[in-house]
Amino acid sequence: MKQALIASIAADRLTWLASVCAAALALGIAAPAAADTLVDNVQGVTIDEEGKIDRFTGLWIDDDGKVKLVLKRGDRRPSGVDYLLDGKGQYLVPGMIDAHAHVLGIGFAALTLDLSGTASLAEAQAKIAAYAAENPGRRWIVGTGWNQEKWGLGRFPTAAELDAVVSDRPVWLERVDGHAGWANSAAIALSGANAASKDPVGGRIERTSGSREPSGIFVDEAMGLVASKIPRPRPEDRDLALQEAQNIMLRSGVTAVADMGTTIEDWQSFRRAGDKGSLKMRIMSYAAGVEAMELIGGPGPSPWLYDDKLRLNGVKLYLDGALGSRGAWLKQPYADDAGNVGLPSMNSSQLRNLMSRAALDKFQVAIHAIGDAANSEVLGAIEDMSGTYQGDRRWRIEHAQVVDPAELALFGRHGIIASMQPVHQTSDRTMAEARLGQGRLAGAYAWNSIADTGARLAFGSDAPVESVDPFAGLATAFTRTDAAGQPFGGWQPQERVNREQALAAFTYGGAYAGFAEGRFGRLVEGERADFLLVDRDLLLSSPEEIRSLKVLQTWVGGERVYDSAGGERGN
Ligand SMILES: [Zn+2]
Repeated sequence: MKQALIASIAADRLTWLASVCAAALALGIAAPAAADTLVDNVQGVTIDEEGKIDRFTGLWIDDDGKVKLVLKRGDRRPSGVDYLLDGKGQYLVPGMIDAHAHVLGIGFAALTLDLSGTASLAEAQAKIAAYAAENPGRRWIVGTGWNQEKWGLGRFPTAAELDAVVSDRPVWLERVDGHAGWANSAAIALSGANAASKDPVGGRIERTSGSREPSGIFVDEAMGLVASKIPRPRPEDRDLALQEAQNIMLRSGVTAVADMGTTIEDWQSFRRAGDKGSLKMRIMSYAAGVEAMELIGGPGPSPWLYDDKLRLNGVKLYLDGALGSRGAWLKQPYADDAGNVGLPSMNSSQLRNLMSRAALDKFQVAIHAIGDAANSEVLGAIEDMSGTYQGDRRWRIEHAQVVDPAELALFGRHGIIASMQPVHQTSDRTMAEARLGQGRLAGAYAWNSIADTGARLAFGSDAPVESVDPFAGLATAFTRTDAAGQPFGGWQPQERVNREQALAAFTYGGAYAGFAEGRFGRLVEGERADFLLVDRDLLLSSPEEIRSLKVLQTWVGGERVYDSAGGERGN
């Protein structure tokens, strides 16, 4: 790497650049945030206007962090750029866009103590003690994932066994299935549960043998006695979770994300990061309900803030639950639960009222719909409303997991965005077969059929429900197989999309779904230079190779924000 400063540069800018360079050099990464940059000698790809692959070998980035020129092999290179990155023949792809994730959820999940890998009580205790020591500022120690069966304990653990490792603060650890929690004495004291407490309806307070004293285990409805005492995250906790989530996403190759369900507190955290200059990824925000939407956006969607790093686009609404818990709303009963069709979370007029409330002020509407009845209801509501709310609305259906094949065409007719998460298909397939039965799989996770209607696909992860890794999603999208290559030939393989479509849905599709096309998502003149250097060719590697792809560097707006060799930049 070499760098050359233009002689005619203004003196103050020169000083500033020099200090940036000095700071960057100290970090072992030498990319000034604002200067003309030439990224050269790369094998670059992007999605063009027609959704086809366009190849190039260099990018000239201006001092606003936008692509000034895409350079092909043989094109004359500009002279006198401030900074040159020699890609040494590496592969360059657009930054991945995750069209559906929960940003602070990712951060909080990563910051929570995870006991799922522990094989004995002693191992869990050691891990808890170490975590408490590493996190002296945390008022509560909260964790998940323990399983006394896996420990070979033959009984539940006790408060005393937790007190032995952490007694200075309350500790609350949920069992792996979420149906029981383990508290230490400090947490029990705060819960108010004691020998005189009755078990709540639908729950049980485990007692120390030979007495009525709580033993430390709270089952089902009794869990709330302790869990309700955990303080809400403070602003600084949220800021920490945001930085954690951002680090995870940037090193995974995700440069922009749609945050599905932003609260006012989340938004304030995003804003604080933007104000401080520590917001390095792009967030397209969908408020957690109409009330949050009005609080955050006021009279309409926010402007694009911080050089296209943040915008409130609209609102996220829920119409049903999930297939796994049989909360998804189906047209016909569950194949494995006759008489149960799931449940809508609101009725038709409530849904239409909320959609109208948002659409009236030009907020974009994103609706969670899993079951075919829920999708049918949303499609019908969009059809009813598209006369009233004309123009470019880009109604979004989140997940669109099970759609009546007869209704698929509505996606194309109304330009609906199908915001889908390929990895859900592999995680869910056995469960989906059980819930739906073989006869009702035709419209399930129907990526290709939906794309064929002319609708726009936007792919994402739903992290932290699934891993953030966009390359696992990409490999799944064109194979319909999981990490183990199962099932052979792919599940409902006619619903695969091709590699170009998959890449488009993880880049340009996500930008379009968030009204960000022209700003970022593609590596073309005038768009933000958000890109990755990766260690293999996305278009030629096998699905297995793509799953083990390594992100070498992540750049957002012409600034290097992650370097696998030099750690990440930021804060
Ligand atoms: Zn979600």
